Amino acid sequence: MTAELDRAFLTNTKNFIDQAYIEGLLEESKNTASSEIEKILDKAERFEGLNHIEIASLLTTKDPVHNARIFSIAGEIKRHIYGNRIVMFAPLYVSDYCVNRCAYCSYNCSHEFGRRKLSMDEIREEVKILESMGHKRIALEAGEHDEICPIDYILDCMKTIYDMKFENGAIRRINVNIAATKVENYKKLADVGIGTYILFQETYHQPTYEKVHVSGPKKDFTYHLTAFDRAHEGGIDDVGGGVLFGLADPYYEVLGLMIHNEHLEKEFNVGFHTISVPRLCPAAGMDIENFPHLVDDETFERIVAIIRLAVPFTGMILSTRENHRMRTKLLRMGISQISAGSSTDVGGYAKREHQEAANPQFFVNDERTALEIISELMDDGYIPSFCTACYRSGRTGDRFMSLAKSGQIKNVCLPNALMTLSEYAEDYGDLLFKERAQVAIKNSLPEIQNEIIRTKAAQNIDKIFSSGERDF
Ligand code: SAM
Repeated sequence: MTAELDRAFLTNTKNFIDQAYIEGLLEESKNTASSEIEKILDKAERFEGLNHIEIASLLTTKDPVHNARIFSIAGEIKRHIYGNRIVMFAPLYVSDYCVNRCAYCSYNCSHEFGRRKLSMDEIREEVKILESMGHKRIALEAGEHDEICPIDYILDCMKTIYDMKFENGAIRRINVNIAATKVENYKKLADVGIGTYILFQETYHQPTYEKVHVSGPKKDFTYHLTAFDRAHEGGIDDVGGGVLFGLADPYYEVLGLMIHNEHLEKEFNVGFHTISVPRLCPAAGMDIENFPHLVDDETFERIVAIIRLAVPFTGMILSTRENHRMRTKLLRMGISQISAGSSTDVGGYAKREHQEAANPQFFVNDERTALEIISELMDDGYIPSFCTACYRSGRTGDRFMSLAKSGQIKNVCLPNALMTLSEYAEDYGDLLFKERAQVAIKNSLPEIQNEIIRTKAAQNIDKIFSSGERDF
């Protein structure tokens, strides 16, 4: 296969996405022999991950037997590597000022509405509400505006949030989703303790990218594409990628994403820490009908399952852009992190409390409260996790990946998930919730394989429920 050839483009730090190559590969992959696809699936079943050429063959197969195997292996990987843990987080929108004109986004600078940037007091108010929902991990989000929302403002937000201490703990990990920037700014973010730097490529299809980013700094495809290279240079080794599904051919996008991951692995020894799979949602100031590549549910499910096969150790994030039914389904085949109780509006948590009208970036599809989501996850046999231990103990980048690949996730992450869920139940749950949590925890304890760790976790959980001790 031609694609086996020269992969020198992966180390091209200016632009490692070659449109003709990806399109050619998708075309060529349609002829992959059935026996070849079987071998690819066998490899995925051994948790070895797949390269983008193998992924192209899975994306283009139409064989129902292969498709059924893709879903069943995705489920096996999910169960084997991640067990029943689901990491919880919530977004925090701090500023919706934006200098870009992005056709899909309500922050588009030509769209007029009452824009806001939160003061530090308003940030504290939002964080108090997020903390009262039990969140320990947030994704800080902002539009791009170097004058109104410069990097120093983002750093101040982070310091303010990390400085806040509550009776039940604190926000312990701040992931940041802000526009592509320069190495110097990534260094500053690293210095104040960023969790993951998240940036969606939106689309890897350059002509589409240039069309939907009508004007503004974000219009520069290559600058956006190479943001993670600069983030690594600035000392951030946990980076989270994603595409906004709905802008271009979804199979092209998956290959772009996987080539990006391989590029990072080659250059920095570690690929994406997480991959997000946002699908385009209706938003003020845009008409979703104008986007010809909207992804239907069936294709979306296949894509999530194929990404799970491709990068078994990379966390996969699903937001409240998806509805309850789709979230429940995708949790089974690969998603490991979900948001809960989210607002996509600047100051939205306080507005919700005061029943004020919102100006969301886009309209969410899962309106359940965090407590409802967490209770339902437990009913479905999951363990919602509020753990941030890897980050707090410096296990980031390739150090996290080595732990994941060693198969130790169950011995390390599961006990932490069970302890943080116990703390959550103790701090935020009513009597009924506590009982349900205790049942879920008891059912999951035997899954900790190492006996010493299992016994220790059980003792710690007893202490959390009986004497309120915490943060083991
Ligand atoms: N300003 C940063 C940037 O340039 O990447 C952060 C962007 S924004 C706060 C976070 C993400 O929301 C965007 O990267 C985009 O993928 C997503 N988004 C924007 N409009 C959306 C829509 N209508 N539906 C779903 N997601 C959307």
